[in-house]
Amino acid sequence: MSTKKINPFEEMLKVLKRTADLLKLDSGTYEILSHPKEVLTVSLPVKMDNGSIKVFQGYRVHYNDARGPTKGGIRYHPNVNLDEVKALAAWMTWKTAVVNIPYGGAKGGITCNPKEMSERELEMLTRKYASAIAKFVGVDLDIPAPDVNTNPQTMAWFFDEYVKIKGEVLPGVITAKPLSIGGSQGRSYATGRGVFFTGLEALKTKNINVKGAKVSIQGYGNAGYYSAKFFHEAGAKIIAVSDSKGGAYSPDGMDPDKLLEFKKKTKTVKGFPGSDETDTRAPLFTECDIVIPAALEDQITSENVDKVKAKIVLEAANGPTTTEATQSLFERDILVVPDILANAGGVTVSYFEWVQNRQGYYWTEEEVDEKLRKIMTQAFRDVYQTSQEYKVDMRTGAYLVAVKRVVEAMKARGWI
Ligand code: GLU
Repeated sequence: MSTKKINPFEEMLKVLKRTADLLKLDSGTYEILSHPKEVLTVSLPVKMDNGSIKVFQGYRVHYNDARGPTKGGIRYHPNVNLDEVKALAAWMTWKTAVVNIPYGGAKGGITCNPKEMSERELEMLTRKYASAIAKFVGVDLDIPAPDVNTNPQTMAWFFDEYVKIKGEVLPGVITAKPLSIGGSQGRSYATGRGVFFTGLEALKTKNINVKGAKVSIQGYGNAGYYSAKFFHEAGAKIIAVSDSKGGAYSPDGMDPDKLLEFKKKTKTVKGFPGSDETDTRAPLFTECDIVIPAALEDQITSENVDKVKAKIVLEAANGPTTTEATQSLFERDILVVPDILANAGGVTVSYFEWVQNRQGYYWTEEEVDEKLRKIMTQAFRDVYQTSQEYKVDMRTGAYLVAVKRVVEAMKARGWI
């Protein structure tokens, strides 16, 4: 465990400052980019199953809307706090710009422990949150989606509450809905699919064949599982996985679907038949071709970065590697495909969902997949080329691409 407390917003500012210096931005422009546009904090009283009333803290942050309505998920986690939501909202701003979709960035969160709440309590909490932030969201204003511990069911409850308040059925107000109420084909696995597409490009730069490539994954939620599944289908070997309770290691590779089945039964991948038991962080330090952090922020830090033995760090989670750790990986020639590029597949298919909702015309799974592949591959190339040009790591490269696009929009609108 890291001993220093890392503030994710400060981490974001460090990379932003370096980017602003490289782009020679004036101080006024940097000032705008380093502050969220608006922040909403709400108190959410919920009647719990035992009859008591509990008040939860909720947040929604609009970070920057120069390029379009703001977009970003909603996280349910005991560690949610305003600095984290602000960082996640800033990252959404850079993420939507890296993949060049017409959005700004936002994020929401509720400080709660969903693993200790019943289905009814979660529904009540979600409906309270939806009504509390209804004035802050909208099809052309701010469009939420899932994040850690939220899913299509959460989106459906939010949507239903919003529709009641507005008196109009506006499916484009939230994305990653179930298919039956305007969701898009391919959204459920889009983050993992995008991680896979950018991973393939990263492997090419290192001349490694995906067939037989060794992949190690921290986190076995939506992003972790689907990343594992797509790499496995392409012939890679999933040699290590973990979740918040522990890990599993098997040098011969494990089947992602069997792992998921096992986790559904036992609530963890630890103890998977034929594997060695490890801890939550072990996959980060396993010798492999690609390590995929797919859990939370600040996992690879200056205190443990020397233990990373992968050739590529493919960030499915948001903010898993600190700025100092990124620099030391860069110096060791370990390629970091940053979060705002690697995990942008989720928001990209959210964008497709929003477009389909607006036109009321729905695409096939193949159409979605082909469009996603094009966008992710192009974004990887833009970032890789920029990082080569400036002789910087790919995280700085991604910020360079993103910030340039955001600043261009701010200029066009007369903000600077
Ligand atoms: N929560 C996801 C992310 O961090 C998806 C956001 C979205 O689809 O709007 O990118």
